Amino acid sequence: MSRIQQLTPAVVNKIAAGEVIERPASVVKEMLENSVDALATRIEVEVAAGGSELIRITDDGEGIHPDDALLTISSHATSKIRSAEDLFSVHTMGFRGEALASIAEVSQFSLRSRQAENPRGFELEVNGGQLSEPKPCGCPVGTTIEVRNLFCNTPVRRKFLKTPATEMGHITEQFTRIALANSRLHLSLRHNRKVIYDLPATEKMIDRLELFYGAELAEKLIWVESEQEGVRLWGYVAHPSQNKSTAKGQYLFLNGRWIQDRSLNHALREAYRGLLMVGRYPITFLFLEVPAESVDVNVHPTKSEVRFRDSQILYRQLLSTLRKKFLSVDLDGRLNVEGDGPREEAQAATPEVRAEAQRDLVAWAGEQVAAWKPSESTGTWELPPRSIPLSAAEIEERASGASETPAADFPAGEMQTQQDAAHHDFHAGERPRAMQVHDCYLVVETEEGIAVIDQHALHERIMYEHLRGRVLADDVESQRLLLPETIELSAGEAGLLLENAELLGQFGLGIEGFGGGTVLLTRYPVMLSRANLRQLILDVVDQLSGSGEKPTRRDLIDELLHMMSCKAAIKAGHRLSPEEIDSLLEQRHLVDDAHHCPHGRPTALVLSRAQLDRQFGRLG
Ligand code: ADP
Ligand code: MG
Repeated sequence: MSRIQQLTPAVVNKIAAGEVIERPASVVKEMLENSVDALATRIEVEVAAGGSELIRITDDGEGIHPDDALLTISSHATSKIRSAEDLFSVHTMGFRGEALASIAEVSQFSLRSRQAENPRGFELEVNGGQLSEPKPCGCPVGTTIEVRNLFCNTPVRRKFLKTPATEMGHITEQFTRIALANSRLHLSLRHNRKVIYDLPATEKMIDRLELFYGAELAEKLIWVESEQEGVRLWGYVAHPSQNKSTAKGQYLFLNGRWIQDRSLNHALREAYRGLLMVGRYPITFLFLEVPAESVDVNVHPTKSEVRFRDSQILYRQLLSTLRKKFLSVDLDGRLNVEGDGPREEAQAATPEVRAEAQRDLVAWAGEQVAAWKPSESTGTWELPPRSIPLSAAEIEERASGASETPAADFPAGEMQTQQDAAHHDFHAGERPRAMQVHDCYLVVETEEGIAVIDQHALHERIMYEHLRGRVLADDVESQRLLLPETIELSAGEAGLLLENAELLGQFGLGIEGFGGGTVLLTRYPVMLSRANLRQLILDVVDQLSGSGEKPTRRDLIDELLHMMSCKAAIKAGHRLSPEEIDSLLEQRHLVDDAHHCPHGRPTALVLSRAQLDRQFGRLG
């Protein structure tokens, strides 16, 4: 065993750097926070090659006193707290005094700063921890810090860096958090000399949200606000029709700091319960202001998690504020019934809409049953036998068109007419096969009683099986666009798409780079010929950027299957021709679990003859 030795400050800093500086985005976060703490009104961020070559941040803040030059890069040196007690009344973003020391240890670091009362500023350079004497220099008031070749002297770390596009995605996210929490700041972000964001200062949070997320979302944001026991909650939550396939649209800020909190996320989910589909996440921008002494911000190296003295109070306040708001606004009235996308699903999911449809349905069923006369001779028709269980292989074989089944020609975007009456074990023309009600549900007589089928859910399920078979066989029919569709994204998002171009190709989507954040969509899957292709790509980006961990290929395939089958399926509100109804019912037995659409919603409700008889007092 070796003897114990005190580590040198350089080693200590490298260890600390490992905790705080995980990737270029961490540098951007720490330096932006420093500029905010220095009361800057304008901050410019310049990045090259995803931050691995250069990160330069310039602010017009208070600057640093020349005598403190060396302290900026000494560890445990800060201007923000003095004593341990101060830890419980932190009013600044930083306080640990280790960020710049850590960064300077693992990069080529230079800093220039001047305070307003000094005619000249100073300049300081550190090369992988090797300091050169600070020198006076002329510079504008404020601070500029340049970080080049991050992790130049920790090759393992440098090797772990992802593509510039991915790293830029993380940087953009950090930038977004600071920008949303500080709308009074003028902020800009450039990558490889191209402007990604230039955000003028504004008093109104909503203006900034609109710049980031577009007018369409901004219009659907609902203001919420409450104050209880010294805790103020305010911000915007999106109407349930606006939602995402990941939790990435949920922003929560505590005393101006972006945080993650399991308990508060849970409160959000609860607040939206019943308003969103399974697997969809709300979009929220919420700010909590709590007395500094009621929260410990020193429990996580990057301070993204905090500990509340009483988290139950916050949980209840968040939940009740949102719930009350949702009850007081007319969520339905504002629903946008466009035929496409998750919006319509959200509508189908609102309890009120469902309840109303259900009431009508029960009334209708009552009439039908009252008029119903049992008869031997009319040759009652049935659904195709649902009970034949198909193996996964069979489904794939059928769905991929290897065998001659209706599924092979079914999902061409439009419902297909079944010409071959021999397929039908009922006498056409005697009775309709099913009745469509509310352009949304199919009511069919079955041997046991009646079944009410959600047309969208069933079709989605069929499309899912079909697409799955085709994707696995790498045989998705796709159509080349004569004129490729250009889609503007952030550089990070474009990078993600390109990284996954091969996988997307398997889904029939042709993606090509066009420089910067622009991508070209060159091919699309035929089954989605009616979908909004731009929106499709935006949703794909959502899926790819997932939350936190990089999703596995399998997860991605699964998510994409769900999303695309949902988009390809007929919507609620779509009137079906009798042939289309037939065709849909005809396919019903082709899916393994026809009772549930891939979202987990049931596709059919069954009311047995016995239940009906009981309800109407026909005791047999
Ligand atoms: P902390 O923010 O935790 O105090 P840092 O290592 O991030 O630690 O910064 C060390 C000190 O350097 C800060 O306390 C602050 O006094 C000074 N400093 C850093 N960046 C700036 C800046 N952009 N403007 C003014 N002062 C700065
Ligand atoms: Mg700091």
